[in-house]
Amino acid sequence: MLPVVEFKEVTHAYLGDREASLAIEDLNLSVGQGEFVSLVGPSGCGKTTILSIIAGLLQASRGEVLLSGRKAAGPSPEVGYMLQQDYLFPWRTIEDNALLGLELTGRLTGSSRAKSLQLLADMGLEGKEQAYPAQLSGGMRQRVALVRTLATDPSLLLLDEPFSALDYQIKLQLEDLVSETLMRRGTTAILVTHDLSEAIAVSSRVILLQPNPGRIRRIFEIPEAIRRTPPLYARDLPGFAELFHEVWKEMELAGREEM
Ligand code: ADP
Ligand code: MG
Repeated sequence: MLPVVEFKEVTHAYLGDREASLAIEDLNLSVGQGEFVSLVGPSGCGKTTILSIIAGLLQASRGEVLLSGRKAAGPSPEVGYMLQQDYLFPWRTIEDNALLGLELTGRLTGSSRAKSLQLLADMGLEGKEQAYPAQLSGGMRQRVALVRTLATDPSLLLLDEPFSALDYQIKLQLEDLVSETLMRRGTTAILVTHDLSEAIAVSSRVILLQPNPGRIRRIFEIPEAIRRTPPLYARDLPGFAELFHEVWKEMELAGREEM
């Protein structure tokens, strides 16, 4: 089967007034159908740039980007991208914000609406449907944005630190919910996170990047036992702590070598 995402020697430079800054260089990457991959690495190593290229919001300066074998060409409704910031519309209710993606892609039906409302309830937002974003906490708004992204049932989901602003307890619950939802739907997902234990708990592969310019430093395959276990419990499995320390040490090195 063709990879859902394939990068071949992809380089991206941001052009400033006087100079170009190299964000990622000669990156090769392949993500298969149904895989859940995490991107980790020190700040500035190109994680958001990679997601934006996959989402079709940025065109790579050099190299080839293929989505299911086809050249990436602009945003597609098949790709759901949840940005670091929630970007809810303040004048729309929570329900109307959650349904926005369905509305924009012409897929708002009785059943897609019912599913979205259920998802809002699953995320602990029951009773908030008619509230406005300003009446909710940051963590709640983040969950609404997550529902909005999941509601359109994208075949490829890109998540940029979706859980980072949440309370620890809620974050753990959402990791479970999201990972279970994606596994059930067979959605391919790429998650950017600075939380290494989250990356190990939810994904099948953890890709560690290093900065200046952004390159892949090391790829960690997550053992089947951890992969199969819901994130909350995966953390207690034998081998989890060792793997965490291994990734952590490597990340330390990646950050230090740049100084
Ligand atoms: P990460 O998400 O891993 O923190 P980014 O992809 O945001 O990294 O950034 C990678 C590099 O590209 C950094 O050096 C950053 O300063 C630079 N960069 C990111 N966005 C822009 C932009 N819009 N203009 C210029 N440089 C940028
Ligand atoms: Mg980023």
